[in-house]
Amino acid sequence: MNALEARSIQFYYDKTQIIDNISMSLSRGEFLGIIGPNGAGKSTMLRLLCGILRPKQGEIQLFGKNLHEQSQRTIAQNIAFVPQETHFALNFSVEDVVLMGRYPYKRPFQPEDQKDHTAVEHAMNAANVEQFRNRPINSLSSGERQRVVIARALAQAPRILLLDEPTSHLDLHHQHTIMELLERLNNEGISIAVVHHDLNLASLYCKNLILIHAGKIYAEGKPAGLLNKKMVREVYGIEVTIVSHPEKNVPQIFL
Ligand code: ADP
Repeated sequence: MNALEARSIQFYYDKTQIIDNISMSLSRGEFLGIIGPNGAGKSTMLRLLCGILRPKQGEIQLFGKNLHEQSQRTIAQNIAFVPQETHFALNFSVEDVVLMGRYPYKRPFQPEDQKDHTAVEHAMNAANVEQFRNRPINSLSSGERQRVVIARALAQAPRILLLDEPTSHLDLHHQHTIMELLERLNNEGISIAVVHHDLNLASLYCKNLILIHAGKIYAEGKPAGLLNKKMVREVYGIEVTIVSHPEKNVPQIFL
């Protein structure tokens, strides 16, 4: 049984078709990269997979059951979603934002307990945001805020982690630490799908890739087979040089 499965998904904004009959799955223990050019439908597909958007046709299954027949609480206990940008209308402290990851485990007004605090500390440590604990969230840089949102997702203790461009605001050091963290979580059993515009990072860290182009799956498979000159020419319209990473032995693309 897959962690998530999308069956023949169609999705429109108004009358514009964005997702055109996509079927895909995130198997248990998978580290999947979703790649493709701007506007291809990657973020839309991720939001369909976590239930924020509802398919116009087709079905999403969470561990074999229709996602849209599950309660919000059940979905949140299974799936954590890290969006590209998160805006906070109220200027909560960083610690309070991470604590929000525990809501799926609480009844209304139930105070947090030791288990919640342990999860929050663990998550802040993993995402390297402990030093910001008392800072108002909106005083952080976008890269720092992105790490806090990742910490909130970790505090949620999900079985599935869906991330939309999690490294887009991060410097080289934090790109590396976040991707290493995701790799570690994946080794601990969390199924992960990441939307990446950076093909080289996707190639370095993802076990399998799905390439979405114009709302359809253009190709899927291991980075070594999928990232080739012909694909980049057809999908991105440029000529590139592709070499094998000297240590990891996966393709890396140079302009
Ligand atoms: P990607 O993540 O691959 O860059 P998106 O899934 O964000 O692509 O967007 C796919 C297409 O859907 C784009 O053409 C985008 O302009 C359009 N789109 C995204 N969100 C909305 C929305 N809320 N309303 C209308 N069109 C949208």
